[in-house]
Amino acid sequence: MTAQNAADHKSENHDNNNVLTATQSVIGEALDKLGYPEEVFELLKEPIRMLTVRIPVKMDDGSTKIFTGYRSQHNDSVGPTKGGVRFHPSVTETEVKALSIWMSLKAGIVDLPYGGGKGGIICDPRNMSFRELERLSRGYVRAISQLVGPTKDIPAPDVFTNSQIMAWMMDEYSRIREFDSPGFITGKPLVLGGSHGRETATAKGVTICIREAAAKRGFSLEGARVVIQGFGNAGSFLAKFMHDTGAKVIGISDAYGALHDPDGLDIDYLLERRDSFGTVTKLFKDTISNKELLELDCDILVPAAIENQITAENAHNIKASIVVEAANGPTTLEGTKILTERGILLVPDVLASAGGVTVSYFEWVQNNQGYYWTEEEVEKKLETVMVKSFNNVYTTSTNRKVNMRLAAYMVGVRKMAEASRFRGWI
Ligand code: GLU
Repeated sequence: MTAQNAADHKSENHDNNNVLTATQSVIGEALDKLGYPEEVFELLKEPIRMLTVRIPVKMDDGSTKIFTGYRSQHNDSVGPTKGGVRFHPSVTETEVKALSIWMSLKAGIVDLPYGGGKGGIICDPRNMSFRELERLSRGYVRAISQLVGPTKDIPAPDVFTNSQIMAWMMDEYSRIREFDSPGFITGKPLVLGGSHGRETATAKGVTICIREAAAKRGFSLEGARVVIQGFGNAGSFLAKFMHDTGAKVIGISDAYGALHDPDGLDIDYLLERRDSFGTVTKLFKDTISNKELLELDCDILVPAAIENQITAENAHNIKASIVVEAANGPTTLEGTKILTERGILLVPDVLASAGGVTVSYFEWVQNNQGYYWTEEEVEKKLETVMVKSFNNVYTTSTNRKVNMRLAAYMVGVRKMAEASRFRGWI
């Protein structure tokens, strides 16, 4: 490792530590406000189970590479744990822990019969072949198979994983168990028991939150100026939905840069040209930086990429009146404080991005009953869940005079705390 690599690695770990400590501190505050004793915090501040695995993979050039993966199960008092698996070079154990805690909160907010889980593998799928990815996906399932299953812990897609990867994982799990197990994983292709509407679910949920938040602030989406950071699963579909509702998407970005047009970008063209990892800006000469993108003059800002994007450094320069977090953990605690003080309405990740796991739940229900719903049915049910959840958090926030993040945590921890108490754990 070079000195620079080591330094990058260190600062990355530092950031990942801050996502865990930040979420722990908000959970502590939420439990305090709800009047729970210290033991509840002691139970919920860390996952109940954390597995680290080493996965040997035969690479196409004949060599063998050993990958490190994780699966974190935060709390299973309400039901089996649930949450995605990400394939990314910057995955760390601490990050996976924090992500699993956020899944518990999401499940609590949208009232699903689940606790939170999350997985990750340190790898860069952008530099791996299709077959290498298949071997890695299958190897991961073999390594975690004893701890997961349709009534134990149910994986799903996350950053840089997709329905093909879910299909390989489901096939591997079914082979190990020797029976077809579609309910082991969600986000599958339709022909393998996937659900209508799952691919677009996160973006749909974010769209509903944006619409509700704008209504609270007294404006409609027609003509509203929207900036979206990230053009992956959430960001790209969201750009399309915003465009379709008559909003003007004036900025988008990927990991390499950002595009800005005050008159509105040609979203259909960008969607056509993006690759499967959401990269599109490389095709353009006239780009701006991600930092500039976040500070653009706009009405609605949607961070839909990675953690720690809105911080003490740039929160003062955000011009949007509404910030809706489609990514997990994009705003730090200091960032949240500054945005709140400035009167910006911040719709937190654990609420805004819960559409994905909601339709994952619908997929699992359909798998369990072996009876499949139409796209209209799925969308109607998602709409009902998201509107109710948004209003529940919003009302908690105004009644208890706390920001939307703390309100969402209060709603999100309550069920898990109660379930743990009924089980006699605390
Ligand atoms: N990875 C998504 C999330 O962070 C979805 C998880 C799921 O569908 O279980 O919410």
